[in-house]
Amino acid sequence: MKYTTVIGLEIHAELLTKTKVFCGCQNSFGSRVNGNCCPVCTGMPGALPVLNKRAVELAIAAGLSFGCAITKNTRWDRKNYFYPDLAKAYQISQLYAPICVGGGIEARGGRFIRLNRIHLEEDAGKLVHTRGNTLVDYNRAGVPLIEIVTEPDLRSAEDAAEFVEKVRRTLVYAGVSDGKMERGSLRVDANISVMPEGSGVYGTRTEIKNLNSFKFVKKAIEFEAERQAEVLNGGGRVIQETRRYDENSGETFSMRSKEDAHDYRYFPDPDIRPLVITDRDIERVLAEIPEPPQKRFLRYLNLGISAADADVILENKAVSDLFDGAVFAGANPVAAANAVKGEILRHYNPAEENGDIDMSAEELAKALKLAEKNEISGAGLKTAIRCMLLEKMPLDGVLKRENLIIKEDSGLVASVVKKVVENNPKAAAQYKNGDAKVLSYFMGQCARELKGGALAATIRAELERVLNSD
Ligand code: ADP
Ligand code: MG
Ligand code: ZN
Repeated sequence: MKYTTVIGLEIHAELLTKTKVFCGCQNSFGSRVNGNCCPVCTGMPGALPVLNKRAVELAIAAGLSFGCAITKNTRWDRKNYFYPDLAKAYQISQLYAPICVGGGIEARGGRFIRLNRIHLEEDAGKLVHTRGNTLVDYNRAGVPLIEIVTEPDLRSAEDAAEFVEKVRRTLVYAGVSDGKMERGSLRVDANISVMPEGSGVYGTRTEIKNLNSFKFVKKAIEFEAERQAEVLNGGGRVIQETRRYDENSGETFSMRSKEDAHDYRYFPDPDIRPLVITDRDIERVLAEIPEPPQKRFLRYLNLGISAADADVILENKAVSDLFDGAVFAGANPVAAANAVKGEILRHYNPAEENGDIDMSAEELAKALKLAEKNEISGAGLKTAIRCMLLEKMPLDGVLKRENLIIKEDSGLVASVVKKVVENNPKAAAQYKNGDAKVLSYFMGQCARELKGGALAATIRAELERVLNSD
């Protein structure tokens, strides 16, 4: 029998606050092990949490980005369980009145994926397994985390992976999270079930925990859907359970039977008061959210950029900001898009940099305008961009050092063309016999002799004039 896959995601994103959600410890990745800790985030007796307002604002920003309703009277609940990375033996989370409810995101093919809720909670610490020992680093304990829970509206592994990327991108553009899956700032739990094709009745689901890349989201769901289909086709039943994905074998393994909310003995946290969020609070956050990627996409199409190119530019916010800055400074949008796609992304790897491009949008615009006016060549533009990007040189410096401003000497062009044609009588004859391809050979020869001292168009015109004469 053929089956339809049904997927609901729980996406965890760490928030870009300076400090943790219930104490003043730094929220930063890569600090000295257990260097960002205090009695609150390590669960010492008597230590009391104080809510970080910024975390609340970022959670609201996430909700507004996805069209959620913001809960005016939100509050905190204790989720009780023991694990060594959770010193208090409970996590402060939100079950009964999550900060955002409803909303949704349009996925591939126009499918609308509904969100159930977004709640704010604290992250747990990190266990570090070494040979024979397990150590615990509490730097991550108490880092603010939102959990974005979708309805079971996704229908394929690929759609799910694309959806995660869309969510990630939106959060990064809104300044809510850095979205770095490789660092664990964004982690995905996938709930999966299968049902006979054409049926509307959902099957029993399993939950795969902690997927930390798009590739693994896709592969784990594919494997799990296949596994469930095989179980059903073999006459068996899918058991509701929590599974883990093994990156090496590409398989999922049972971890534990699925716990229900009541297993956690949730109850309202007596240490933190419920929070009232006013319309003014929401308006203030709304005014602060930068233009989201979906809006930029439409704007780019209106600028004459192709959808594929717009997507390339938007993949990284720093790149998109640079593009916008250059266009704002008067660059031709299509030329700016070509520069981004070509020379800029050839030398700038967003994954390696810390989200910044050290390049002035005004200078980029200036270089693009020089190229448009034929004051520097196409190759010269590439050189200019490369030096500005890699050597952090000002444009003027590059123009001088690399001698990029073209001072065309028409006498020199004519004499070089004449010489090259005379030295290659065979090729000249070929051209006259209708083989237009040899023109590029001649172009190359002349360009080498002229060392960038002339525009391609000038050389071409002179070549055609000479070759077509007599
Ligand atoms: P719980 O309270 O047990 O965590 P929820 O109803 O909150 O369960 O759902 C958790 C996640 O599981 C949600 O993302 C939801 O979309 C998804 N989900 C629920 N039922 C199914 C199903 N039958 N198949 C796939 N995903 C499901
Ligand atoms: Mg959950
Ligand atoms: Zn602390």
